[in-house]
Amino acid sequence: MLRRVDFEERDATDPLAELRSRFTLPEGVIYLDGNSLGPLPRHVPDVIDDAVRRQWGSDLIRSWNDNAWWEMPVRVGARIASLIGVPEDSVVVGDTTSVALFKAASAARRLRPDRRVILTDSGNFPTDLYVLSSVAEASGATLEIVEPERVGERIDSDVAVMALTHVDYRTGRRHAMEELTAAAQAEGALVVWDLCHSAGAMSLDLSTADMAVGCGYKYLNGGPGAPAFAYIHPRHQEVFVNPIAGWWGHADPFAMEPGFRPAGGVRRALVGTQPILAMVALEAALDAFEGVDMAALRQKSELLVAGFVDLVDERLEGFEVVTPRQASERGSHVSVAHPEAAGIMAALIERGVIGDVRPPNLLRFGLAPLYSRHVEVWDAVEAIGGVMESEAWKRVVTKHGPVT
Ligand SMILES: *Cc1c(COP(=O)(O)O)cnc(C)c1O
Repeated sequence: MLRRVDFEERDATDPLAELRSRFTLPEGVIYLDGNSLGPLPRHVPDVIDDAVRRQWGSDLIRSWNDNAWWEMPVRVGARIASLIGVPEDSVVVGDTTSVALFKAASAARRLRPDRRVILTDSGNFPTDLYVLSSVAEASGATLEIVEPERVGERIDSDVAVMALTHVDYRTGRRHAMEELTAAAQAEGALVVWDLCHSAGAMSLDLSTADMAVGCGYKYLNGGPGAPAFAYIHPRHQEVFVNPIAGWWGHADPFAMEPGFRPAGGVRRALVGTQPILAMVALEAALDAFEGVDMAALRQKSELLVAGFVDLVDERLEGFEVVTPRQASERGSHVSVAHPEAAGIMAALIERGVIGDVRPPNLLRFGLAPLYSRHVEVWDAVEAIGGVMESEAWKRVVTKHGPVT
């Protein structure tokens, strides 16, 4: 049987334990929802303050040059590139994940015009399914949605684009990215990965993937509504056609030409003026990864997740771990099913343990190796046990806002 001291011991020997001090985390809260909104890195408020008061307030429009606002999408892209293991001039930051996916999947589709199918899976995040449906409709393709386990067998020479999310937002199941990429490419398809639940939590091998997109506000901690990122493999950068030709993707935006000529490189994936204040927050937030070895980060993530799963097995009754049992088949969050998930989570949040729920019956706990502590895993599972024993979940009044 595991004991609390075992988790204290894991913290004491955790080579990444110090990184937590790079964040502002409220007292009395165990934050297990960084897979949905990463916490505030400690120095971000000062950087934003400077961007607002000095750069915007005093430097005004000169900031586009003097404070290098114009270069931000590519500069911040280079920072993210190093976290996802791709060349630094192959990532651009801007827009939202939904928009980035629309652009990437459309551009990929356009490179395989004679094929019929865009392939994805039913575990994909709803916005990805909606966006891919739009891409299919706009390009005369058919969106085929198969079960996650059946993607591999569906791949054939009809597939123009395979667009998948690496780590399932509900279950935490992780696709075998390299294998599926190789299988699709062997049939001549292009592959677009959504890294929303991977980037910032693990090392990644995108060396063969054609394109990828991901979120700035989850494990990258860029703040609410942080811009997204898009990776375009160097071999596609000169043939990438942005479905929304806008002036930020133009070769010479300030020539104000009436006709569109795409910029060289990843910049062509941009559309219009970017939310600079949000970009400033994201760029500063990425400092929290300074000097961090992504393989070590993944190792810690695996230990956190394994600890959580082991404790659920040992200490809780009536909860089913739906996250895969194999470390290599999962991401950095744990999902457990219980028919009273909503009430239980509300009671946990009242007690300062913050996770979230996903319908119909999943409690979701994100374990972020940059700042989560092993002992928090113990304390969270203890809190679940307490909520069940006291039947506190029956008594909470769930406050209904639109966001779960
Ligand atoms: C969080 C998430 C999104 C969010 O998309 P936005 O356009 O940023 O709102 C999209 N896809 C996946 C897989 C996600 O996890």
